Order: sequence, then C-alpha cells, then structure tokens
Amino acid sequence: MPEAQAPLSVATEIAQLLQRLGVPDAAHTGGELTVRSPVTGEVVAQVRQTSTAEATGTIGQAHEAFKAWRNVPAPRRGELVRLLGEELRAAKADLGRLVTLEAGKIPTEGAGEVQEMIDICDFAVGLSRQLYGLTLATERAEHRMMETWHPLGVCGVISAFNFPVAVWSWNAALALVCGDSVVWKPSEKTPLTALAVHAIAQRALARFGGAPEGLLGLLLGQRDIGEVLVDDHRVPILSATGSTAMGRQVGPKLAARFARAILELGGNNAAIVTPSADLDLTLRAIAFSAMGTAGQRCTTLRRLFVHDSVYDALVPKLAKVYGNVQVGDPREAGTLVGPLIDRAAFDGMQKALGESREIGATVHGGQRVEGIGTQDAFYVRPALVELKSHGGPVLRETFAPILYVVRYTSLDDAIEWHNAVGAGLSSSIFTLNVREAERFLSSAGSDCGIANVNIGPSGAEIGGAFGGEKETGGGREAGSDSWKAYMRRATNTINYSTALPLAQGVTFEI
Ligand code: NAD
Repeated sequence: MPEAQAPLSVATEIAQLLQRLGVPDAAHTGGELTVRSPVTGEVVAQVRQTSTAEATGTIGQAHEAFKAWRNVPAPRRGELVRLLGEELRAAKADLGRLVTLEAGKIPTEGAGEVQEMIDICDFAVGLSRQLYGLTLATERAEHRMMETWHPLGVCGVISAFNFPVAVWSWNAALALVCGDSVVWKPSEKTPLTALAVHAIAQRALARFGGAPEGLLGLLLGQRDIGEVLVDDHRVPILSATGSTAMGRQVGPKLAARFARAILELGGNNAAIVTPSADLDLTLRAIAFSAMGTAGQRCTTLRRLFVHDSVYDALVPKLAKVYGNVQVGDPREAGTLVGPLIDRAAFDGMQKALGESREIGATVHGGQRVEGIGTQDAFYVRPALVELKSHGGPVLRETFAPILYVVRYTSLDDAIEWHNAVGAGLSSSIFTLNVREAERFLSSAGSDCGIANVNIGPSGAEIGGAFGGEKETGGGREAGSDSWKAYMRRATNTINYSTALPLAQGVTFEI
C-alpha cells in the first residue's frame, strides 16, 4: 500500500509559498531576524535585516522617486494601483495562506485580509480621478479662488503584526495615487508577508513600466529601523499602526519636526446590549467580534455592557459558546480561534485574568490549550470575565481574547462606562429602539471613531474612514476623504482684473 503523504511542515510550506510569490531565498535564509510561526512555534525563517545605513539610503531613493512621481498625472498613477490590485488577485490564495502561517489567522481571515488589499486598490483607482479641490466664493470682483491638492512626499508606514499586509495597502494605495512614494517598516514578527507583498508590488511596477526607482521601499527589522523612518526629515508623513505605547514614542518625535502623523493605535472597544436587542443576532456578532483573530484585532470587542433584564438570557449562552468554540491549528477545518502571536501575549492575558480574579470576577475559560505544535505555540481558550463593576484590568487593552462583561440598569451609566477608557476606536450598540440607537450615535453617545448599530465593532469595510480618538491616536485611513492626509492643500487666488482690491476692504495706496 502506498504510504500516506505526511503533511508539510510549516517551514516547508512557507518556503514554497515564498518561492511561488517571488521572494528570493536569500531574503529569508541566513539573516539575523528569527521568524517563528505562531501556528507551531517553530522557527520558519531567518530574515536579513535592513541596516541603518541601508534604511537611510532607501528613504533617500524614495525621496528622489517622489520628485518624479509627483509629476505623473493622478489617473496614470492610478493605473499602477490597478495593476497592483490585479497582481494581488492573482496572488490571493498564496498570500492569504502565508498570512495564516505567519500571523496565525484562520484561512477565511487570511484571505479576507488580502481581499481588503484588493478592495482598497479598487477604491484608490477610482480616487485617482477624484482628487477634488473646491472652487470658493471670493469677495473680490474678477478674482477666482480655489484649492488644489498636491503630493506631499515620502509616506512612511509602520505596521503591526496583526494586520501584516492590509495596513500597508490602506496607506500605499492612497499614497501612490496621491503622488507620494512609500517606505514601509512592517512588524518584526511578520516580515515574510511583507517580503511577499513587496515582490507582488515589484511585479505591478514592472508591468507599469517607467515608474521611478525606489518608489516603494521596504525596511525590515526591529523598532530601531522604524525610528530611522520616524526621525528622517525627508519623510513628511508617517502612518504608524501599533500599540498606544508605540504611539507615545513616535507621536512627539513627529510633532517635534512638524511631520504629519496618522496614528492608528490601541483599542478597548465596547458594546452595549439593551433590553430590546435581538439576542440571537447579538450573540453571533459578539462571538465574531470578541473571539475572531483570537482577540488580536485593534477593533476586537473587549467590554460588554448587558442590561440587567437580558443578562441572564444572554450571558450563560455566551459562556457556553466560549466553552465550545473550536480552538486549534488554523490549518484545520472548523477552527475558529487560532494561536496567540507569542509567549508575551499569553503572559499578558494570564496577568489580566489574575487581576480579574483578585477583584472577585467570575472567569470562564482563559486556560492554555496544550498539545498543538511546540512549547512556543500558544493556544488559549477565549476568556469570558463577569465583572462586578467597571474597574481593574478592563480599563486597558490586553491584546488577547478576553471579553469583560458588566451588568447595567441605566443607559446613562452604560454610556459613561463605555467612554471611560483611554482608547476610542470602535463601538456598538445592540438595540431595536431607535431612541437608544440614535443617542449612542449622537454627540452625547459613543466617543469612538467608529460607532455601529446591530453589528459588532470589528470587521470594518474599506469605504469608511478608519481610525479612532483619544489614545487611539486620531488618525484616519482607507475610505471617505482620508486621502487628504496624504496630500498638501494649497489655496490659490487669481486676480484677472486690472484693480487690486484687498481683502476685508483694507486700503493701501502708494
Ligand atoms: P507594537 O506597538 O509592538 O509594534 C507596532 C510596530 O511599531 C512594529 O513595526 C514595531 O517595530 C514598531 N515600533 C514600536 N516602537 C517603535 C518606535 N519607538 N519607533 C518606531 N517604530 C516602533 O504593536 P503590535 O504588538 O505589533 O500590534 C498590536 C497593537 O497594535 C495593539 O495595541 C493594537 O490595538 C494595535 N493596532 C492598532 C490598529 C489600528 O488601526 N488602530 C490596527 C492594528 C493594530
């Protein structure tokens, strides 16, 4: 009988994917940066890091590339992004799989992340013909006043491990049509997907033909390489996605040199479940928002305020779902919760659960699931934590699948607790009561950048502006008019008369 074929090791499969995606072996073998797959905990690559001198050189090249790219008409720039979208479509299966193996996402989420890249490319192609400026009413006769939008320069992108490819595309697709060059420093935990994206982009550039050398740069390494990007005065705009702690370091440095910052930082997202909520829909929405991506999304639902009248109908059912959800190797069919990214994430989760127990909370789940991969793979059963009041570890973001639940009786209290944390990214209310829904969305309701009704806080579409307030950093990316951050606005006044009327009726006769 022929022997059954042994499944590929993660390292072997990654090597094959990288080869198919066009990444040279030398880029991921023999280097100093050790890459582990969270799926098995095994070492899967040794990536060559960018030196400080190389990083400075890449930024210099991007700066020169910008000077040429800004003169290319925007719809033509859109053509490059259209080709990028085509290349991503062709590579979707392989790149999605690589996201699964490098970041631990289940396959539907890995593929979904690549789809998000394709979606933003499509959006940006349309945008390349819609970089509109206003014509403004002028108070002076025979004058015209208008605003024009111009490319800004090198756009730096620093990204986090949990959206290893989409975040680059949100920025790059827009920056490219806006006439900017892009230099990217991905997370040190996910350099392989970045290498793959870079190879895909090189194919789009080759098909486009004639784009300036160095238009898209890639810097691989730890935070010190990110700092090179932050400190270089030739980078007038920097989009930084990651923890609030990172933003606290990066934000002031950018401010000190008057660079534009798009900060996309941590979230501590909440939902309110009111007496009229459709509980079946609510349960499903909570499950995805709180446990999806193993609780490692910036928009993950972390705090749930449940009205006293529906608490006992909802929370025990939720605890059952938490007890039964399939945790495991994301390559296996049926798995909904994959691994944590690393040991530090596991330790952070256990610390928060310990603090919860100390203040008398009831903790369901949260324990390590053993027996998958090596000792460096960290799988956990998601935790549901019933709190007596809104205090303790619930007030901070723990980047792991912990959902804190608090009972409420007055919507005023629920909204107050909702807004009583540092972060301000995403939020939801579950209600069939129009007054409650509208109040939550009003200026006196949720203080977040994203506020939803009857869907969870995670899983945003690219058409909307994405980002949050307070300690989330205030940046906006992706859809709506987020493109304006990647350009500079000039107000132009043109006098086609023979007179020189001054604004506000000021006279100055010489
Ligand atoms: P992290 O802050 O540890 O690292 C993010 C990136 O910043 C990495 O590339 C890292 O090398 C770089 N970095 C860190 N300190 C730096 C410094 N001083 N100068 C320059 N670069 C620096 O975050 P992480 O663990 O990779 O990701 C998880 C965090 O990211 C969570 O807090 C999550 O909420 C947040 N996040 C936010 C969004 C959003 O859009 N708001 C999206 C994804 C993730």
